[in-house]
Amino acid sequence: MAAPPKVGFVSLGCPKALVDSEGILTRLRAEGYAISPSYDGADLVVVNTCGFIESAVQESLEAIGEALAENGRVIVTGCLGAKGDVVRKAHPKVLAVTGPHALEEVMTAVHEHLPKPHDPFTDLVPPQGIKLTPRHYAYLKISEGCNHRCTFCIIPSLRGDLASRPIGEVMREAENLVEAGVKELLVISQDTSAYGVDLNYRTGFWDGRPLRTRMADLAVALSELGVWVRLHYVYPYPHVDEVIPLMAEGRILPYIDVPFQHASRRILKLMKRPASGEDNLERIRAWRKICPDITIRSTFIAGFPGETEDEFRELLEFLEEAELDRVGCFAYSPVEGAKANELPGALPGEVREERRARLMRLQEKISARRLKRKVGKTLRVLVDEAKPEGARARSAADAPEIDGVVHIEGVGKLAPGDWAQVKVFRSDTHDLFARAVASRRLAA
Ligand code: SF4
Repeated sequence: MAAPPKVGFVSLGCPKALVDSEGILTRLRAEGYAISPSYDGADLVVVNTCGFIESAVQESLEAIGEALAENGRVIVTGCLGAKGDVVRKAHPKVLAVTGPHALEEVMTAVHEHLPKPHDPFTDLVPPQGIKLTPRHYAYLKISEGCNHRCTFCIIPSLRGDLASRPIGEVMREAENLVEAGVKELLVISQDTSAYGVDLNYRTGFWDGRPLRTRMADLAVALSELGVWVRLHYVYPYPHVDEVIPLMAEGRILPYIDVPFQHASRRILKLMKRPASGEDNLERIRAWRKICPDITIRSTFIAGFPGETEDEFRELLEFLEEAELDRVGCFAYSPVEGAKANELPGALPGEVREERRARLMRLQEKISARRLKRKVGKTLRVLVDEAKPEGARARSAADAPEIDGVVHIEGVGKLAPGDWAQVKVFRSDTHDLFARAVASRRLAA
């Protein structure tokens, strides 16, 4: 049997891009292509790019340049690919350029430049598809695109309006993942709380049972799979309140990733974002009343055009009051095509960066304060990495890659994907330090 053609793959960007990469890799393997771990072993390289902020654009262009230099045959996809002219201007030799979420176009380009092999044996892939994440957790993408038009963001122009996946299809994928050993599902989209709006919350079917295409209904169904379910990118709509009781009942993880972006009513309006700092504070208080253990993660933008020092301080005061557990902050980045660039009062780069750094310094203190409260507690954790000298795990409060971790001493026989009970003896700014009190393969 002739060796199958080999495709190299470079995946950049956010978890949504990662899911696109997984879809392409799954299809490549299903069609009998081999995946090459190196440039020189590949017959062709696909680069999945990110174009969210200027630094991501640069990183993507560099990755394309590297793939061209090392291999020479490159197909570009992803968010930066939506701006084909930018890619082609920098790298005229690329074979093809497609936008994000463009599985069929990428496959057409691969078929054209590296014709598909015909071997039924190589068509076999596991039902859960090819995953780039460790075996014990997986991202579950429930929709593509977004109906909002936040003025700092160009994602809707790159990925289009909201297009929700049918709930039956999402549940079948989740089931396959769990059967393949996944113990934590991370629900992602551009706007998880809008799930199903575009389908008028249509009723779908899973296992013969009717289910409405809605975030809360999906959360209930996922909770029945017996694994950790973590919700990301939940836009702060009022109906988000519906999932908090599910967290309090332990059906899904008491964790919510909700990008507030700012606290000043005027800046939020300029951003075309809902609510205000006060509304959000009230909401946070109500969530904590229902689910005291909830972990709240959010992201903010510092130095938005026209942001005054007072408005920025309002944001800092909000953070002091809200005591969020996990916070990410970007200095405003004037990404090409964003409406916010037309607003008056653009701030110099140093001011934007200084405010970002100031915000993060404050948040570090808040984070350290909140983590200290966990010292002495016993937590259930999922092990990501284990070495003889210690293990790295995550509790309900820690999403992979973006949050802190739990460092475990006295590892015993722990392996990646194991559950463990640990007792926390120390904390720092982002992480916890704990000793294992019990470990075994438990049901979730
Ligand atoms: S909600 Fe706003 S920031 Fe998020 S993808 Fe949609 S437009 Fe962009």
